[in-house]
Amino acid sequence: MSRFFTERYASLVPYIPGEQPQDMQYVKLNTNESPFPPSPGVVEAAAREAGNCRLYSDPESRLVSEAFAASLGLKREQVLACNGSDETLNFAFMAFGRELAFPDISYGFYPVFAELNHIPYTEIPLRKDLSLAPEDYYGLHKMIVLANPNAPTGMALKRDEIEAIVKANPDEVVLIDEAYVDFGAESAVGLIEKYDNLLIAQTFSKFRSLAGARLGFAIGDAALIRDLNTIKYATNPYNVNRMTSAAGIAALEEDAYYRANARTIQANRRFTTDALRALGFEVPESSSNFVFARRPGLSGETLYRELKKRGVLVRHFSKPRIDDYVRVTIGTREQMDIFLRETETVIKEVLV
Ligand SMILES: *Cc1c(COP(=O)(O)O)cnc(C)c1O
Repeated sequence: MSRFFTERYASLVPYIPGEQPQDMQYVKLNTNESPFPPSPGVVEAAAREAGNCRLYSDPESRLVSEAFAASLGLKREQVLACNGSDETLNFAFMAFGRELAFPDISYGFYPVFAELNHIPYTEIPLRKDLSLAPEDYYGLHKMIVLANPNAPTGMALKRDEIEAIVKANPDEVVLIDEAYVDFGAESAVGLIEKYDNLLIAQTFSKFRSLAGARLGFAIGDAALIRDLNTIKYATNPYNVNRMTSAAGIAALEEDAYYRANARTIQANRRFTTDALRALGFEVPESSSNFVFARRPGLSGETLYRELKKRGVLVRHFSKPRIDDYVRVTIGTREQMDIFLRETETVIKEVLV
């Protein structure tokens, strides 16, 4: 820390993103990216728009917002385009967070954004089996943040369970982070018209293969979206760049391509879950594009390290309750075959 860093952030512990190694080619299953490239129209549209970068982007992100809202049967006033979901989360915490509640095991950025914005927070323990008890979130009088499906467990709540939580906290915003919803969970978007305290974050990073473009949306009542706009125009009016907006519109037009990819991921998830269980792993049923797995007698740290030596990158969290697990992104069938083969080797060599 330099002698100029303000006391305001002296104790801030930043988020640690998954490795993006530049040294060698790994079978990269550590940051839940899509193994499939963006669709052809996306690449073309972004390249074409690059020629217009002399001009600022549209601060209202009108075209991509209209296209996205239309894809959900909503109006433009009910969505806000952001520089990835992470920006949506930060804006929402700034706008609505007096006190926060979220699970003890969830997306690692929630406590970081809470600290950044000096918002007190409570971490509510998941059950022993890592499932989430909806009743734990009734009548909290705190802003609630839930990832559905949850990360890194992959487990999802039903739409009715989300609705019960939203209903039981009418005086607070309930933020549902749907980063992985398109891989098999139920979206809460259909509840937007019914509840003015429901805010949803979706992203183009996972399902739509655009992690490097940075595009996400807040979805909610028009009054919530206006408040988020106040924060946005106080932070970064041109938060979504021209290439990304063009890419986003094209990605919505080529929806069928992404749906087909998601079906492949679901099939590979089934295959991987079954294969890991056959190797002695415990694997909760995932509704996401990753699985969370542990094997008695094999530490998560060891498996992570041994796989990395063998060119396979997975994610390990040194955190109480989950440090014996690894989180494995579901990739192509070829990638999963390599991952499973190397995992089997590690088991044989380590558990002698
Ligand atoms: C990946 C992820 C995000 C962040 O997505 P970006 O749109 O890339 O910022 C948000 N929430 C969860 C739970 C995620 O896993």
